[in-house]
Amino acid sequence: MLSKLFLIVGALLLALFFLRGSLQKRKQEREQDQIDHPDEPSRKPVRMVRCAHCGLHLPERESVRLNGQPFCSWEHAEAWKKKHTP
Ligand SMILES: [Zn+2]
Repeated sequence: MLSKLFLIVGALLLALFFLRGSLQKRKQEREQDQIDHPDEPSRKPVRMVRCAHCGLHLPERESVRLNGQPFCSWEHAEAWKKKHTP
């Protein structure tokens, strides 16, 4: 009777041991992943363009384009166009 109880407790401890081991391994893998890619979202390169009118640098997706030239705003695109059209 007592030996059966020991067997059950032993099996439970063994299961707990394995469970903890695998959890720790997963945690370590996740930490390793964070070490490999510390700041993944901000590491994406942002293409910068220069406003052809005022020279302001801004991310390409925030710029506007006219005749293939990047501008910081439509006002500057219009101003540039006025200046460069005869
Ligand atoms: Zn500008």
